[in-house]
Amino acid sequence: MTRPRIAVSSCLLGEPVRFNGGHSRDRFLTGQLDPYVEWVPICPEMEAGLGTPRETLRLESSPGGPRLMTRTTHADLTDRMSALAHERAAALRVDGYVFKARSPSCGIHGVPLYRAEGPPLDRRNRGLFAGVVIAAHPLLPVEDEGRLNDALLRESFVERVFAHARLRELLHGDWRPRDLVAFHARHKMQLLAHNPELYGQAGRIVAGAGSRPRAELAAEYALTFQRALATKASPGRNVNVLHHCLGMLFLDPAHRADLLAVIDSYKAGLVPLSVPATLIRHHARGQDASYVREQSYFSPYPDALRLRNHVPAVADRRA
Ligand code: SF4
Repeated sequence: MTRPRIAVSSCLLGEPVRFNGGHSRDRFLTGQLDPYVEWVPICPEMEAGLGTPRETLRLESSPGGPRLMTRTTHADLTDRMSALAHERAAALRVDGYVFKARSPSCGIHGVPLYRAEGPPLDRRNRGLFAGVVIAAHPLLPVEDEGRLNDALLRESFVERVFAHARLRELLHGDWRPRDLVAFHARHKMQLLAHNPELYGQAGRIVAGAGSRPRAELAAEYALTFQRALATKASPGRNVNVLHHCLGMLFLDPAHRADLLAVIDSYKAGLVPLSVPATLIRHHARGQDASYVREQSYFSPYPDALRLRNHVPAVADRRA
């Protein structure tokens, strides 16, 4: 399986780069996920030459927008950090990014914005470095380590990262239109689970694969593919995909009824998605159903990660 490249705030990998010389090692990233990915560690504050230990930073409001300031000496680091972020963003070739939560440089949600004095004005901001990177790569899968504690967000992020890596590997090689057709065929159910409309659009792009310039075709397909996967795969759409795959298997009435019951159990929130998905994959392996068997939907990332073993909460099942 393709090994994704994931940019990560260095402190999350355990590097002693925080303001106090410490780190924020994350157990999921350095444990469960580590064997399957290639990390690209980035510490913007160290790269900006601030060293460690260092004075802490914060975002401060100004008429021209948030400024990145040192807390005690009030040095303005906005221009230095902004230039670094633009340079890093332009050269970034990765399949995802995990940022450190709430950092004034790396945070992607909930970073406090201060006045020169007093309590925060609000806590809805993005760190300066992260903001520039995300603006430059709006479809790149990004999360912070705090949100990755949520089982649904974790699975969704990892799924997108691996799909991004497979597409990157295809399009950066010496591909032919038939390779894109084969890639799309393998990803059909995964796209359908995320966004039926963009699934249809991707199919139409691939249908014209032989008659268009390669670069134009690749750019349009990549955009549609990534937009589709950026949409949440709801339980309802997963049920639709499971029924779709079930319809392509040759099963006796008893086995079919069993599988339908399991899909209903998933729909009702009684079993995780891994249960019906594993059963369908098992039946597809046992018969000549290569189209179903080879769908990336059934192996979107290494099985050993076991990220589909959670039951969505009621609110998420309604989504
Ligand atoms: Fe460096 Fe970002 Fe971690 Fe701060 S949050 S120590 S800037 S990697």
